[in-house]
Amino acid sequence: MKRRDFLTSTALGATAMTLNACHRAEEEHSDNSTQVPRGKKVTLKLATSWPAHFPIMGTGIDNFAKRCFELSGGTLEIKIFPKNILVPALQVFDATSAAQIDAFHSGVYYWKGKNSAFSIFGGMPLGLTSEEMITWMKFGGGYALWREMYAKFNLYPLIGGTTGPQMGGWFKKEIKSLSDLQGLKMRIPGLGGEVLKKLGVNPVLLPAGELYTALERGTIDATEWVGPALDSMMGFSKAAPFYYTGWHEPGSILEITFNKTKWDKLSDTHQAIITAASEEMTANMLQEFRYKNAKALQELPSNVQIKTFPKDMMDATKVALKEVLFEESKKSSDFKRALESYEAFVKLNQPFDDISTKNFLNIRG
Ligand code: CA
Repeated sequence: MKRRDFLTSTALGATAMTLNACHRAEEEHSDNSTQVPRGKKVTLKLATSWPAHFPIMGTGIDNFAKRCFELSGGTLEIKIFPKNILVPALQVFDATSAAQIDAFHSGVYYWKGKNSAFSIFGGMPLGLTSEEMITWMKFGGGYALWREMYAKFNLYPLIGGTTGPQMGGWFKKEIKSLSDLQGLKMRIPGLGGEVLKKLGVNPVLLPAGELYTALERGTIDATEWVGPALDSMMGFSKAAPFYYTGWHEPGSILEITFNKTKWDKLSDTHQAIITAASEEMTANMLQEFRYKNAKALQELPSNVQIKTFPKDMMDATKVALKEVLFEESKKSSDFKRALESYEAFVKLNQPFDDISTKNFLNIRG
């Protein structure tokens, strides 16, 4: 027998054997109407902090639910409830913790009032990019700490998307030096807001629906949001034409978080499907943000002026961030532990990033 014939006949033989095995398996299960038993049907209620089908984030979670249904052969149904339908946007954490709903999709930094360490899992000003944050979570110990700290609230978190680098925000007046920040009222949440507070800014939190009017009426002088794709839908350019490059949210992490008792009761298969679908969603969201931001940047109104913050402000920002991190570490041992893990990864990652990505981007120009 020639080698090729041998390979062909062996392959065919293997196929025939597989078919026979399938046939036998079918016969053995002929009295059972379920061909591939994957466990009984499970339906979960998941509430979000976004309006229904909100671009990129809302459509991302819609697709996550669809994928869980498909991958489970219809045995895992996740019903999505947009903000304020079952639960107000910023009460999804408490509602899931108390098992009023099974899961939520939101942004991690909203919960820093529960535990200041959570702001680190949501992303760091002047810190890691989305890809680097995910690497810290999966390989550098971030996930283990996040899950340990969420377990105290009976919650089990998964990364549920990431925004990529966000823009620095829309300003009514140009920021020419650090002194221009004095007394400025800006909508900016999280650690970024804490940092700007040290530089004389009055950081405020306003719901998304009120941002444009507040900016137009001068109730606030500036607002950050996300990036060109989502910002351009808000019309900020009409009230505040100076659009600054980012520093405060280089890789913000969103979450799909489950009530832990409910999560632990899911089958291994359903847990694996949810985990895989969340990873797929995270990759898709990052790619969609990149593509749509790039496109929306080309289509910004002609009055928009793209600016970079002045050097004296960025230098002061770096000093202020160190102060904020030091102060938070003194107040909370959880914050200190999360920061130590985060900084250990930064120390490991930075030399390689310098000679690989950063070096290459400089060469590419
Ligand atoms: Ca933002």
